[in-house]
Amino acid sequence: PKKTFRKRSRESEKADDSVLRKREITSLRIASRREYLKKREKKKVEELKDEIDFELSRFDGVKLTEEEEIELRFKKELYDLLKKTEDDDDNVSSGYYRIPDAYDREGVIDQKKRFAAATRRDSESKRGKKTEQEAWEDHQAEKATVRFGAKNKKQATDGYEFVFGDYVETSSEMETEEQRGCDSRTVAEKAKEGRKFLPIYAYRDELLELIEENQVLVIVGETGSGKTTQIPQYLQEVGYTKRGKIGCTQPRRVAAMSVASRVAQELGVKLGHEVGYSIRFEDCTSEKTVIKYMTDGMLLRELLIEPKLDSYSVIMIDEAHERTLCTDILFGLVKDLAMVRPDLRLIISSATLEAQKFSEYFDSALIYMIPGRRYPVEKLFSKWPEPDRLETAVRTVFQIHQTEPLGDILVFLTGQEEIETAETKLKLRMIDMGTKSSEIIICPIYSNLPTELQAKVFEPAPKGTRKVVLATNIAETSLTIDGIRYVVDPGYCKINSYNPRTGMESLLETPISKASAEQRAGRSGRTGPGKCFRLYNVKDLNATTTPEVQRANLASVVLTLKSLGIQDVFTFDFMDPPPEDALYKALELLYALGALDGKSEITKLGERMVEFPVDPMLSKMIVGSEKYKCSEEIITIAAMLSTGNSIFYRPKKQQYIADSARMIFYTENVGDHIALLRVYNSWKETNYSSQWCYENFIQSKSMRRARDIREQLAGLVRKIGVELTSNPNDLDAIKKAILAGFFPHTAKLQKDESYRRVKEPQTVYVHPSSGLFGESLSKWLVYHELVLTSREYMRHVTEMKPEWLVEIAPHYYELKD
Ligand code: ADP
Ligand code: MG
Repeated sequence: PKKTFRKRSRESEKADDSVLRKREITSLRIASRREYLKKREKKKVEELKDEIDFELSRFDGVKLTEEEEIELRFKKELYDLLKKTEDDDDNVSSGYYRIPDAYDREGVIDQKKRFAAATRRDSESKRGKKTEQEAWEDHQAEKATVRFGAKNKKQATDGYEFVFGDYVETSSEMETEEQRGCDSRTVAEKAKEGRKFLPIYAYRDELLELIEENQVLVIVGETGSGKTTQIPQYLQEVGYTKRGKIGCTQPRRVAAMSVASRVAQELGVKLGHEVGYSIRFEDCTSEKTVIKYMTDGMLLRELLIEPKLDSYSVIMIDEAHERTLCTDILFGLVKDLAMVRPDLRLIISSATLEAQKFSEYFDSALIYMIPGRRYPVEKLFSKWPEPDRLETAVRTVFQIHQTEPLGDILVFLTGQEEIETAETKLKLRMIDMGTKSSEIIICPIYSNLPTELQAKVFEPAPKGTRKVVLATNIAETSLTIDGIRYVVDPGYCKINSYNPRTGMESLLETPISKASAEQRAGRSGRTGPGKCFRLYNVKDLNATTTPEVQRANLASVVLTLKSLGIQDVFTFDFMDPPPEDALYKALELLYALGALDGKSEITKLGERMVEFPVDPMLSKMIVGSEKYKCSEEIITIAAMLSTGNSIFYRPKKQQYIADSARMIFYTENVGDHIALLRVYNSWKETNYSSQWCYENFIQSKSMRRARDIREQLAGLVRKIGVELTSNPNDLDAIKKAILAGFFPHTAKLQKDESYRRVKEPQTVYVHPSSGLFGESLSKWLVYHELVLTSREYMRHVTEMKPEWLVEIAPHYYELKD
């Protein structure tokens, strides 16, 4: 094992000049810091020992399985190793250094050191730096190899670094009602006053006049000028709500919720009364609601129930520049609607100048620009290639903290996982640098963050402190956070991408577009001159992002369109038409599922499927469960699958314990779907206890969400006239019901222990997060979804029998022999 460490330092000697430079700076670390780091390493060693002791006591008297033994042995080895090398300076790898000249002004570029975004990934992998996701996959893969007897220990050490990462828990304690009550009063007063200072205020009357005169109006305005929060209120003030509701769509759930709560505050009403929001699986509106914020997907669903949207007087399609799939479909639908509803007002609002395109699409609609206030933003970018963008982002935050005047920092990251890692890294480094916890306030914001924590991001930082907001793309244009003076932009975002040929959908981390880069930088110049630190060169970016409709799985929207009576999806008035392949693929799938008939018309089954706000395969699974008399079980599984892969909780310090706790739900190798069902049912038996979740490494907030979703699905199942029946012990029946929806997602084991999709020539692997990963390999699997990270992985898999395919989907599969 000692060899590994030596090898690592030799590797770094080969590294290029940027790394040499880093080492040079690193060597300037002051002695006291070294002392400190040593102490920290020691602490880690002690913690590891505690963990081993804990695990030993846990298994006290119980005979260890072979795997458990191997894992414990590994840990002990690691512990010995660390103890031995404690004094070896070279192992204190986490050197910190200031990088005063790491950033260059835009335009002054050292060509050699400049790096192309495209080659960045390359260099990342060459250097052996991995994303956390990859590391965890490798780590899991390593575990499996060990189980199968391969002795590849060299690689194994790579995974171990992650054993050390400290886990920082975020408290999600709710405030008491009173606290919130008195808080919101003062905030509400401030909010009301603030309305007059927004850039849009000066144009209120003119804007209202134009809306009155023009059925369709395209509005462009800088983010934060007040479009989303003010326009609906202005319309309400002059009486539009007497004729009907004002609906405002948002591409993101968090934005819909947060903006609605802000507007309710400004109007001094309770959220859900006059002002409400509606997002998938959550309706916070009432009879009284006149201003309704909702996701674009929800308005699409409302069109199914109310094709002419008669209860609305104004529809505002906000954040139009985001060009999400649902927004694009809405464009086509509301454009038609405008003709049959001359009284309806349409507002298309956007943060960027793509407005011309919107205007043309809506038959030369008038464009109204709200002049924004914008202070100059100084843009700086990193001079040398940064293999680990997260690390660099965190370092940059500290650089700003030490060298720049007070002001809040906004860091753009790709998703929850990156944000959580960054939060941990920041907190660790704060301890290392001796930064007082009162100096920096870290506020994460992403779509799965519990609502009560989302509000924190808008609270101003107390005097003398600096707020560091870690946000996804959501802070690019959807949400405006006041007080941001510095932006740190690593230049990546996650986008959904679908390959119609293979039917594979994946969330890919992609470089952002130039337009996004500008928007992100702009966030620092709202209240005064700002600075934007870019970890990339803007020259390497594409001008804009491809609209989602051109890279998404269209099955769900095609079914919605069919159900709205739009027969020919090929002639639908898309602003940018999707590839024909993708449309064909969607029609084919819907036909295979039985939602469309041979004439491509929607069937009775299809009509029932549309009722469920989920993907067609999932809705077919639910509707199909009637036949197998296990709808209770199936809606539980569907609800658990819809919570977003956040059921199992793996604190970094206790990964092994968490993993073994999880395996309890997998006895007899049942597969992920049924394990999820068991988790839910066990939780239910404890009367939905949070304590039980805690003890079993289950996230209770995800479970509560699953329970809400389940309730709604149950309601919908009753609505379509299916009786809820339970058949808990017939696992085959449950598996068959899953297959009824997911029969196109099947794979067969190959000789080399990979899998091959049954109907596609594609090699896939069981995802490391699966309980079947590295277990005895089932010959045939049905999977929930494919995800592409380092490989093409099947997430959520369950064993099945090939005969079932012919039984359940004879039109799709036939027997060969
Ligand atoms: P736009 O839609 O033009 O980007 P918004 O109407 O979203 O602008 O924002 C206007 C102002 O309202 C901003 O200054 C923003 O900080 C504030 N604001 C919006 N939502 C919230 C919220 N949930 N909490 C506090 N302030 C908010
Ligand atoms: Mg807005």
